[in-house]
This record gives sequence, C-alpha cells and structure tokens, in this order.
Amino acid sequence: MIRANNPELKSWINVPANSDFSIQNIPFGIILTTTNEKHVATRIGDTIVDIFRLARLGYLGEKFDMELFNQPVLNPMMKRGKQFTRDLRNKLSDIFSDAHHPLASNSEHQSQIFFAPEQVVLQMPVHVGDYTDFYSSIDHATNVGKMFRDPENALLPNWKYIPVGYHGRASSIIISGVEIYRPKGQMKPKDDEPPVFGPSRLLDFELEMAFVTYDGKPLGESISTAEADDYIFGMCIFNDWSARDIQKWEYVPLGPFLAKNFASSISPWIVTLDALEPFRVPGEKQEPEVFPYLKYEGNKNIDINLEVFIKPENAEATQVSRSNYKYMYWNMAQQLAHHTVNGCNINAGDMMASGTISGPNPDSFGSMLEITWRGTKPIKMSDGTERKFINDYDTVIMRGYAEKDGVRVGFGEVATKVLPAK
Ligand code: MN
Repeated sequence: MIRANNPELKSWINVPANSDFSIQNIPFGIILTTTNEKHVATRIGDTIVDIFRLARLGYLGEKFDMELFNQPVLNPMMKRGKQFTRDLRNKLSDIFSDAHHPLASNSEHQSQIFFAPEQVVLQMPVHVGDYTDFYSSIDHATNVGKMFRDPENALLPNWKYIPVGYHGRASSIIISGVEIYRPKGQMKPKDDEPPVFGPSRLLDFELEMAFVTYDGKPLGESISTAEADDYIFGMCIFNDWSARDIQKWEYVPLGPFLAKNFASSISPWIVTLDALEPFRVPGEKQEPEVFPYLKYEGNKNIDINLEVFIKPENAEATQVSRSNYKYMYWNMAQQLAHHTVNGCNINAGDMMASGTISGPNPDSFGSMLEITWRGTKPIKMSDGTERKFINDYDTVIMRGYAEKDGVRVGFGEVATKVLPAK
C-alpha cells in the first residue's frame, strides 16, 4: 500500500467532517499568494499549504529540488515522473500526520506556509500541451445514438472496438471560476430552411473527468494497458462546454470544432492517481472481445461520485444529475493504450477527458441534451423557472468525490457562470 493512503492516518491540521481534502488526498495545484507569487500547493481540510515555502524553510529535506515548486504550473514537477510525485505525497503525509512534527508547534512558520482558501487565488494548475476528448460512456453514446440516429442501432459499428476520441483545443481549457461567454456561430434549426447565424440557443455542459499525463515514450513507441498507470499523474473534473446547435450543423464529416473549442472548465486541484487507488472497481465486461492491445488486467475503473447543479442568478442551486466515473466502458488504461498504439507521443501536461459520463438512469445523465431529451422534457429549478439547456447568468457546478471505509478523497468543484454572447 502507498504510505499516504493509510486509512488510519489522522492529521494535526483540522479536517472538517466530509471534507474532500482529507489527509489521504493531498492533491496538487497552483496558488497565487498574497505577495503575488505563483507556487505549487496542496490542500488539507480548509488549509492551503504552500509547498515552495515549506521546502524553503527546510521541511522537505534535500531530496526535492525546491525550484520545482517555485513555478506557475505543475509541469516542471511532473517532468520528474511518478516516483517523484509518490515520494513527495508520502513526505507531505508524514509531516501532516505526525503530531510531534516541528511544524505542528511552530506557529511562526505556519503563518508563512498556511493560507485560508479565500487568501489565495487558485491558478490553472497545468500547462496543457495537447488535449484529447474521448467518448467512452456507453450510456451517453447510446442516448445520443437513440436521439440522432437509429434507436435500434444506437451505437455506431466502431464503438465497441475503438475508444473513440478527437483532438480538442488545449488553450481554451480554463479553471473553475472563470466566466464564459455564450458562443456564436452557424446553426440550422429547421431542416427545410437555410442555416442561421447568432448566439447558440442550445448551450450545454458535459460532465466529464480528465486525466493528466506524465511524459510518455518517444514518437513511434506505444504505452501498453499494463504500463498506463505509470504515465498518469492525476485527475480533475472536466466540464466540456458544448453548443449543441452549432455542433449538429458543423460536425459532418470531421467532428467537433467551434461547438466545443470556445471553453472547457476544470476543477483546480489535480488528485493523484495514487490517492484514487483505494477506490478502484471492476469495469463492465466488454463484448465483443477487444483487440489484444486493449486487453487489461485488474480493476481499472474508479468509483467516483459525480454531481451536477445549475444555479440560476439570485437563486439556490438545483441538482440535475448524480453520476459516477465507474460507469465508463473504456477505462483510462485502454484510452492511453489506444492513443499511443499508432506511435503517437504524449507529454507531461497532456489532458485526456473521458467523454460525457452518463449512468443507466435518467437522473444520472451527464448533459442537458440527455437529461431533457433534446429539450422535450424540461426540468424545474428551485426558483420555479424551467431549463431545457443553459441560460445566460446560470452557473453550472460539478462536484466529485470517492468515499470508502470512512476515507473521502474529493475534487472540490468546478463552477462556471455563463454570460450573454458578446
Ligand atoms: Mn466531450
């Protein structure tokens, strides 16, 4: 077992009940400090810990190059690979769980290293070099196929053979809290009339999770499903904003373009794959049998509860979905093996999103497209208004957490407000 995952550990730093940020979590992110510096940080309970300052005051010893934490992104640290992250997380866990640790009684040092969440501004944690979005939830792919194609043959013939994906736009991935503008574009609302131009009328979220990679292998080489975990740094919640009306008109024959590339929002803390190990579960049996390069051993799915809320301006948030990452048909190891089977390279900081994560029941669907079934079944908000898709000034909030044997490892939230088209 990874030392930092020990469920018996308790911290001398206060962790409120039901906090996503238990001593067993120790995620990584980037903070802008009160003195305008960007540093690598972690969070435990409601305490943000500046890892650069922790290192500068000597608490991490000689093993960890402190300049790796004096950075505006996690990429330089991620360049050191999986063992570095594991050692660092274990070291932080040792410090936070040892009630007799010198830091526990040094309030002067604590005042330099510890921040309340409202004292820092969380930054985009990773410089995303390349971004890929998969389409790996069978319930989502089936729902979309039923709506737009043939209900009797909802899945396309390739779907159970290939973890379908496309390359998206990396530089419009934004952190929670950054507002987006409703996209404009071409749409064709009526089949028998010409297309129109204007603000999207069918703006939607996609409930997804993304994993962030370490450096991979040189161009021409592949990563097997057995090796995949060694190349995965961690995960975040990912809202793949989608303009359904733009998407429907533009996607033939090359796939998503302007319907997707205006923004995708992520939660600010990257939870390591190590911290998620205790929550692994088996995946669905795959029939027909997959190609040998997609076969895998062990539990590759992860039990992560996912929730989506819509908060209208000046009203309480209403929960609209309750899904789970365990519903994925294709797992991360298969996605990475498929992505590299042709010799495609990956780099530290690449982000690979799951595709919309829908469960089997309507209350577990991961997009408004499915929840309201193309707008035919509007849902009620707490203030009495109805939604078919997302309105201007709505805030979409997604949360996620894993929980087992009294240990909770969570992601916090990604919250994004939609402003009117510019
Ligand atoms: Mn997507």
